[in-house]
Amino acid sequence: MIDIINIRKYFPILNATVYGNPLIYLDNAATTQKPECVIQTIDELYRTGNANIHRGVHFLSEQCTEKYEQAREKIRQFINAEKTSEIIFTSGTTGSINTVASSFGERFVSAGDEIIVSEMEHHSNIVPWQLLCERKGATVKIIPFDDKGVLRIDLLDALISERTKIIAVTHASNVLGTINPVKEIIAKAHLHNIPVLVDGAQAVPHGIVDVSDLDCDFYTFSGHKIYAPTGIGILYGKEKLLEQMPPYQGGGDMISTVTFDKTTYAQLPLKFEAGTLNFIDAIALGAAIDYVNNIGRQNIIEYENKLLDYATQKMSSVEGLKIYGEANDKVAIVSFLLKDIHHLDTGMILDKKGIAVRTGTLCTEPLLAHFDKTGMVRASFAFYNTFDEIDILCENLEKILLMFK
Ligand code: PLP
Repeated sequence: MIDIINIRKYFPILNATVYGNPLIYLDNAATTQKPECVIQTIDELYRTGNANIHRGVHFLSEQCTEKYEQAREKIRQFINAEKTSEIIFTSGTTGSINTVASSFGERFVSAGDEIIVSEMEHHSNIVPWQLLCERKGATVKIIPFDDKGVLRIDLLDALISERTKIIAVTHASNVLGTINPVKEIIAKAHLHNIPVLVDGAQAVPHGIVDVSDLDCDFYTFSGHKIYAPTGIGILYGKEKLLEQMPPYQGGGDMISTVTFDKTTYAQLPLKFEAGTLNFIDAIALGAAIDYVNNIGRQNIIEYENKLLDYATQKMSSVEGLKIYGEANDKVAIVSFLLKDIHHLDTGMILDKKGIAVRTGTLCTEPLLAHFDKTGMVRASFAFYNTFDEIDILCENLEKILLMFK
């Protein structure tokens, strides 16, 4: 059960007012708000515990290192990875995908090779592959989706060739909300020995990830979308692949020994953690994971599914409102347009009522092109949102319709 009153008290920003109205924060797919335990972890570390990790023999350095490595272990358990050596701290999903595109690409991709992504990817899971293809003379191939926002995995077999080097696909779409059948995609890919990277930025916050069960080769997500600070994220990679890949960046911490003749690299995961990592926020990510575990992932899934069903049904009854993304299996994201009213107008009027939604391309221009649109409005929910907030959203959408009549 979700104890909504106490949960909301635990997120200080949810008490804020915007233009004199109580804040209704429905932009959780962009970034989530932070619970007290995350704010306190950062505050306490900077007040009493800050020292650079992995370097010092002094007390604070050792203590910080221990907490950092404990956070890594929490994340390993959270996504059910086999080993902590497979959990790499990065700056976020974008950082993780760029690491793989660059390092895996350097080792395994050559001219004439192919990389498959889907039509519903965030730009973060398109552009790093395009950059790689430009460098190497490879090409990107696309798995399309249908008008309900369901991926056409029936077309995947025809897209795979002996030149396919990797498939990179989102677990859940940040616009359509669609939860993709990534386990099935991975099984198909593995029949051809093709590794799969799963972009979990929108799946992890909704409690649905087990990398061992999926058998994915890489899995990526961002801390700030799961109640942790910005600037920290995770790259999970299978050890046997990470070991064959060159370091992404050079610097401190990622080396074993350095001479001007030859440098050798550190063991995993440090081989991919060059320089001073964002260790304070990594520890705070551990605190966020503890918090989510305490709430209970099954409770989160059940509550958010109820919010999604309620929002879908209520919003569908607003005259002229069209929802984009009607898959059966969705996370709590509802993207829409109100008749021919510009998405920015809708977003700006809602803002004046204290309702924060996202508008614009949502970092998915190819997805929008599918629907021949240049922008949408997106309401995205977290377990601290309420049914009343959905009612207020819908009341204001009705008012906007009247204003534009
Ligand atoms: N992938 C998806 C599906 C996303 O929704 C986002 C962010 O919205 C990203 C990748 C990029 O995440 P970040 O900006 O935290 O690196």
